[in-house]
Order: sequence, then structure tokens, then C-alpha cells
Amino acid sequence: MMRSTVSDPRTDAVLPTWLQDIAVQLLAPFVSRRAPHALLLSAPEGNGLQELCSTLATRLLCEVADDGIDSCRRCRGCHLIAAGNHPDLRLTMPDPDKASAPITVAQLRSLIDFVNTTSHQGGWRIALLMPAERMNSQAANALLKSLEEPPPRQLFLLASHNPWRLPPTVRSRCQQHVLPTPTTEQAQQWLGEQGLNAQSATAALAAAGGQPMTALALYQDGELQRRDARRHDWEQLLAQQYTASALAAAWQNDAQRSLNWLATWLADSARREAAAANSSTLRGLCAAFDAVSHASGLLSTTSVTNLRPRLVLEDVLEQCLRCLRNRRTHV
Ligand SMILES: [Zn+2]
Repeated sequence: MMRSTVSDPRTDAVLPTWLQDIAVQLLAPFVSRRAPHALLLSAPEGNGLQELCSTLATRLLCEVADDGIDSCRRCRGCHLIAAGNHPDLRLTMPDPDKASAPITVAQLRSLIDFVNTTSHQGGWRIALLMPAERMNSQAANALLKSLEEPPPRQLFLLASHNPWRLPPTVRSRCQQHVLPTPTTEQAQQWLGEQGLNAQSATAALAAAGGQPMTALALYQDGELQRRDARRHDWEQLLAQQYTASALAAAWQNDAQRSLNWLATWLADSARREAAAANSSTLRGLCAAFDAVSHASGLLSTTSVTNLRPRLVLEDVLEQCLRCLRNRRTHV
């Protein structure tokens, strides 16, 4: 889902409404020349963190922008960013082809070489680390010295979905900001601007846990349809139209994602039952949720044979049925 550069190919793209105030707040010190040398910006995945970083970097490297948050989109700086090759902007990210690859010390050394060269365009030089919590400990150590003694007009922009995973020594050397989350109305309006009708936007947001950028990606990748099919399977299991064994066989090639969806349905139902103070049903839902979380953890940490996901799935689906046997509400 992450683009390889911070450039935004939609030249008319507007920063989402829920991020505009914080963009103004973050950019103000740069106008008055009391700018921080390191910002740690955090938000859940899919909430616009990448879009905000792109706006900040483009605005700071735009050569003719005024006091607002918008860059001119016409100057040399804006064109270089749009082409993904501005010499004063460096994006450092994990290898996108490896799911759990860290940001390595070799990448940080290369970044520090960049930081220690003179700005090509005579303005700011921006080092963007995204997501910063993927730095391994050697990489974080390599970054520390530059954070302690930054060259003039150098900005480190650390974007993080889980900032508590960063070493405290790194966090404490950055000015920290948590991005606001969008209201449902803002998220739906933004998805409408991306071409989703109201019904699709509502369904996509529900599937994405309220994160609009994730919702858009789910919609565009056809994930919503796959999720709906899983949901139908699950309802058939509860209605005793399927056995746990048959469902496990159908889900085994997509076991992890199926369990993640199942966990969100159980959590949603648990929240509804908690609001209705329906304690007996709530206990069953929580027990089923715990079983699914445990199975999901097993699948993500164990190297499994072809048989194993099916067995894990069958076992956890049987457990869910036992937990929900006395349920009185729709899950
Ligand atoms: Zn410009």
C-alpha cells in the first residue's frame, strides 16, 4: 500500500480535511524560523500519515509557496518532488518486498551521508523515515548522533504507526505529534471524493476499522467482496449449514486474513453487547475473540506445514461454536 516515493501523482490532491489544522500547526514554526530539527508524527495505518508527510515535504521544498499549507505545484522544487527525485528529500523505508524487513543500519549510514551533504537547492533538506519504528536497534543508534547534532536546515521527519516501539532515546529527541483521527462524516466525505458511493464507503470504513485510506485500498483491491464472502461463510456456520471442518478447508489458503476478519466481527458484536449490558452473551463473544486471537498468533508465529492452518482453523471454529452456543444475538 505504501508508495515508493512521497510524491503524489494526483497533482490536484487536497490534504484530507482532518489533517489540515495540524498541517498549519506543524508548518508555522518553519515560517517564523523557530523550526524543530526532528518531528515524530504518529497515526494508525490508513489515517493519512503518508499524505501529511508528503504535504509537509512538498510545502517545505516548494520554492514559491506563501504562508499556507499548499505548494505551488509549478516550481522546480514541486516538479522534482512530483517526479520522485528531489535531491534534498530522502525517503528511507523497509524493503517493500519483504513483509517484516527492518530499516537497516546500512540504510541509515546512507541517509547520514545525505544529511551531511550541502543542500542542493539552498533550502531545507528532509530525511523522511517511514515507518520509523521499523528501524532495527543498530539503525536507531546510527540515527541518534545526527538527531543530537543536526546540521542547519535539516529536518528529520519520522512517521510512525507504533511510536512506542521506537527507543525512548530517539523519541525524546523529536518533537512529537499524534495526528487527529477523522470523524465518520469526514472519512465518508473523503471516500466520496475518491468516487465511492455512500453504501460502499460505509462498508469499506467498517471493514477498515474506520481508517479511510485503508478503506479505499480495500475497496480498490476487491477485498470487500472477499470479506463479504467470508462473512457469508461464517453466518452459514452459525446457522449449521456448514461444518467447522468444511469452513476450515475453504479458508485454509487465506487463514490469517480470515481470522483477522472474524476477530473484528466478534469484537464489533462484543462492543454492541457491552453497550446493551448483556453479560452472558458478552462472555461468550469475548471467549470466542480470545480463541481467534490466539489462533491468529499461532499462525503468524509458527512455520506451518500445508496441513497446519486447516487444523488450527477447524479447532478455533469449533471453539467459537462452543463459546457462542447460547448466544441470543446476531454475530
Ligand atoms: Zn512549488
